[in-house]
Amino acid sequence: LKGDNEGQGAAEKEIEKALRPLSFHDFAGQQKVVDNIKIFVQAAKQRGESLDHVLLHGPPGLGKTTLSHIIANELESSIKITSGPVLDKPSDLAGLLTNLEPHDVLFIDEIHRLNPIVEEYLYSAMEDFRIDIMLDSGPNARSVQIGLNPFTLIGATTRAGLLTSPLRARFGINARLEYYDATLLTSIVKRSATILQTPLAEDAAFEIARRSRGTPRIANNLLRRTRDFAQIKGDGMITMPIAQLALKALDVDENGLDEMDNRILLTIIEKFKGGPVGLTTIATAVGEEAETIEEVYEPFLIQEGYLKRTSRGREAADRAYKHLKLAPPATKPP
Ligand code: ADP
Repeated sequence: LKGDNEGQGAAEKEIEKALRPLSFHDFAGQQKVVDNIKIFVQAAKQRGESLDHVLLHGPPGLGKTTLSHIIANELESSIKITSGPVLDKPSDLAGLLTNLEPHDVLFIDEIHRLNPIVEEYLYSAMEDFRIDIMLDSGPNARSVQIGLNPFTLIGATTRAGLLTSPLRARFGINARLEYYDATLLTSIVKRSATILQTPLAEDAAFEIARRSRGTPRIANNLLRRTRDFAQIKGDGMITMPIAQLALKALDVDENGLDEMDNRILLTIIEKFKGGPVGLTTIATAVGEEAETIEEVYEPFLIQEGYLKRTSRGREAADRAYKHLKLAPPATKPP
């Protein structure tokens, strides 16, 4: 049986693939973004052109990769997948670009982490569907121009602010994905449970959804772990008590904050008097990369009103004190 001896990693990957929506119809939420992209895709198809380049940004796990696959499907084109840090030198990029068929999609994840030299190459590829390739080096060095098939670049980034302006300017379509509300996540969790053939009580679905940090990837992960608890500690059905038991065991608290979220808030309050305190100082104190805090944890904590970002650093907001059942400082520092 395929996958039997491939270990847990491969099995989990298979499940992740099975849960990934393949059409706009199955892609929940992000209505405005989806509605617009549908129009752009349809228009490009009607004209027989490649879709304009698309920049998708937003926190991890919100559906950037999924949406890119769907766009390629709708274009009836293939998608090639790579990421910024993987494209080491211009020839890596040239290899990918010259293999694209007309109207194919090239997906570059973490596009803010492109090597500047590679990025430079991308400009003419995006703008004129051409690249200059250097042949030889030293006195014999000469460059030749190669024409490319018209293609669509989809760039994904968690940090749109880190994109250089020349790169940003070359995307005709720019979309920001937002965190999902609990109702949308409930529908995602229910759809996934159906695919996994796991019976799931309505209130349990909502409980998993509302404690998933607004993120489909987390919702699906929690569902899978909860399913394990249901299998071992129950009769296979995910009920409310099973969901609560699993979420507690996974250190997901009542408001859906995980251990690192709580550690960040607690550190700011207890070690730095509630802030303001600089990002790198927080990172050292909690033992996490500053970049990860900024990309993964902070956006949600700020949106939900636990954290404030000021010119002088990060500050714990009222909701953080309430959440941790701590008394806010009597007098706020000026
Ligand atoms: P990103 O590329 O933004 O990090 P992904 O596209 O990899 O996120 O999404 C993570 C997982 O969450 C996917 O495997 C998919 O199953 C699920 N997912 C994301 N967005 C949606 C959505 N709108 N509807 C249903 N499932 C989604």
